[in-house]
Amino acid sequence: MSAIATPAKRPEIKTELPGPKGRQIVEADAQYVTPSYPRPNYKLVADHAEGVWVEDVDGNVFLDCNAGVAVCSTGHCHPEVVKAIQDQAAQLIHMCGTDFYYRHMPALAQKLDEITPVPSPTRTHFANSGTEAVETALKLAMHATGREKFIAFFNSFHGRTLGSLSLTSSRVAQRKGFKRQALDVVHVPYPSVFRHPFTGEPSDAATVSRACLSWIEERLFKTTTPPEEVAGIVVEAVQGEGGYVPAPKEFLQGLRRICDEHGILLIVDEVQSGMGRTGKMFACEHYDLKPDIITIAKGIASGMPMGACVARADLMDWKPGAHASTFGGNPVAIAAALKTIELLERELVANSAEVGAYLQDGLRKLMPKHDCIGDVRGFGMMIGVEFVENRETLAPAPELRDRVEMECYKRGLILLGAGHNTIRWSPPLVLSKENVDVALEIFDEAIAAVTA
Ligand code: PLP
Repeated sequence: MSAIATPAKRPEIKTELPGPKGRQIVEADAQYVTPSYPRPNYKLVADHAEGVWVEDVDGNVFLDCNAGVAVCSTGHCHPEVVKAIQDQAAQLIHMCGTDFYYRHMPALAQKLDEITPVPSPTRTHFANSGTEAVETALKLAMHATGREKFIAFFNSFHGRTLGSLSLTSSRVAQRKGFKRQALDVVHVPYPSVFRHPFTGEPSDAATVSRACLSWIEERLFKTTTPPEEVAGIVVEAVQGEGGYVPAPKEFLQGLRRICDEHGILLIVDEVQSGMGRTGKMFACEHYDLKPDIITIAKGIASGMPMGACVARADLMDWKPGAHASTFGGNPVAIAAALKTIELLERELVANSAEVGAYLQDGLRKLMPKHDCIGDVRGFGMMIGVEFVENRETLAPAPELRDRVEMECYKRGLILLGAGHNTIRWSPPLVLSKENVDVALEIFDEAIAAVTA
């Protein structure tokens, strides 16, 4: 029996981009909406979406390998998530968990106690975004330790409210104009094996980890920052906005040791790397790392606004009134989160690992053809492709990266940059191998177009 293969679904671009309806919306946006959003050079005006496919207002269909910046973990509008939201919206939209009780809050907090790498027992504070989850972690660390200094890393991103902004350091535009930082934060180098932060050259995990750890222990602690004044070290196990850079295991284990030696809390920000993105539920699991506090948002509720700060229960002994949020953990967002976690556990974390490895392998196979791909790195469906002038000099090529991003868009593939010269792959975790083949073909063509 001969099987007739159905052709893989592909993006369909039917108009100039953006099309006439899209242009009207972009113009209205330019007039009325804040210009502070860090939008890329291309303008995508979404109308509706399903799974990995996004249709714009002019009927153009895009393959989405960004997932609304690593948020739509179960794919756009997963039918089970949509149903959970609809059912919950018909029953109870809001009650305010700061003053009243409903079953959803303890149900999700209990689930987070089971699945997060923070040693159980834990407690959870609910908010609406990543930055609020980080604010919670900062306040909690100050409250629990009675200390007020923090250590954070260059190229990190932890949010844009004033507390989290004191940690954020991935681009000067994020901080310019806001003068002094709200919190007492000192920034230290983050170890990249592709670019040792002190030399800019490739290194090995042990060397770069040692250099960055001794910067903290030998320089910082002995000069400006006595360890007994440090409340917390805040770190992304895989830097997100900084360019999709995974930390070496020895480095994160070293931070754990330093924290234990000095009574400092280890706060791991998994807002971008959590919820199955790296092929495990949390990136910490790749490192056998046990944080004291973890921050979660983005992928937790498939696009409904939710942030969570999960901490060791003994740390969360603050008194009523110390911290709360009107909307945080509202029943509809929690219904979406519980369904999202069910889908992640059922199949999508495994899919992220398997199809992510297939994608990473395919990206590596493009390297011999394209001398401008300096590095392909990451875990699961959190993959960075760093662009360079050539692999001889490894000089960063940010403009070339931007042009590749634009050429992908013109061909119907949604990708976004991260860091100075990296393209991030953060697709919905429902991405299939068939989708990967289509995406790689377009990516290959786009690179060829800008380097021809
Ligand atoms: N922390 C990390 C690691 C992030 O990547 C982000 C957003 O990109 C945030 C915090 C802030 O999240 P939000 O934009 O939801 O405030």
